[in-house]
Amino acid sequence: MENILNQTYPFKNEPLPYGYGGLEPYIDAKTMMLHHDRHLQAYIDNLNKYIETKPEMQGMTLEQLLTRFPDDIEINHNAGGVYNHAFFFAGLRRGSSQIVVGLSGRLLQLITRDFGTLENMKNQFNSAAMSVFGSGYAWLCVDPHGRLVIVTTANQDVPFVPTSGLKPLLNVDVWEHAYYLKHYNLRADYLRDFWNVVDWVRVSNRLDNCLTMG
Ligand code: MN
Repeated sequence: MENILNQTYPFKNEPLPYGYGGLEPYIDAKTMMLHHDRHLQAYIDNLNKYIETKPEMQGMTLEQLLTRFPDDIEINHNAGGVYNHAFFFAGLRRGSSQIVVGLSGRLLQLITRDFGTLENMKNQFNSAAMSVFGSGYAWLCVDPHGRLVIVTTANQDVPFVPTSGLKPLLNVDVWEHAYYLKHYNLRADYLRDFWNVVDWVRVSNRLDNCLTMG
């Protein structure tokens, strides 16, 4: 799923590595099927259609498109929609949060340094996610000074545009389509379930990549 972030035109959807039902009972199979097959797929289709006639955009990754064309509303909506969903789906996994193996190293060190405890980080992340009015995302990111920060984005905005220098580690989709079938309008319940399916190994690897790349 995270391979989508390395693709260029034409962008292609990838199957969820854990299947539609792989996050049950925390996120239900029907939500995942609709979210992946319809919502993400629509962003991919619309992005490909838009870029079809724009050769100058065809060799670019999602991040390059978003960074190079920050004022292009079609890129914002569709490249942002693909990026945010691919990043979100790739950051989930059943079982990893119980093992917490990814939290043994540098990630836990930085969380402890910048938030005091893992619980504090989760609480701040939840508050941020609850504060998103309408549709958007909450993110855990690394800032240009190597500090962990929590930010929110509206609609399909991404945290590195305009040039914030932020590198994302974890996001949660708080558009209602991400949780309404199971959790109705109870975003807090969805967020509680979300923490049970965070892939801490992935988050930890993302951090290592950010710090390695400088
Ligand atoms: Mn979504």
